[in-house]
Amino acid sequence: MKWFGADWGAPCCDAADHVDTPTDTTCGYCGLAIKADDQGFVFPFITQLLPNDEALCVMQPWHLDCFLQNTGVVTRRAREREAASRATFVCAHCQREQRFRARDTAGRPVCEDCGYVQEMPR
Ligand SMILES: [Zn+2]
Ligand SMILES: [Zn+2]
Repeated sequence: MKWFGADWGAPCCDAADHVDTPTDTTCGYCGLAIKADDQGFVFPFITQLLPNDEALCVMQPWHLDCFLQNTGVVTRRAREREAASRATFVCAHCQREQRFRARDTAGRPVCEDCGYVQEMPR
């Protein structure tokens, strides 16, 4: 995989695959111009398949951030965050349903209605 910009320390940042920052092009993900101090990858992007099984390719740059945003790792983390924000518990004191938003210094859930600190289930 070709990459451009300053080395960000990833295993893919092999000096042999480093290319000049394509400042005259736009990112394939967000459509914004690639700036001289940006980091990212360059992918071969097939624009047309030819009858003889060859393909016309352009090299399509992506910002590093745009690439990371679009990978499963980040998406999975975002999904976990969302699931955690939806989880609820019933306050042992006032019996009202609460979300796990407030916590005390020990990390125990705190009821936002009555302030009761919940004992963690064992
Ligand atoms: Zn981008
Ligand atoms: Zn409560």
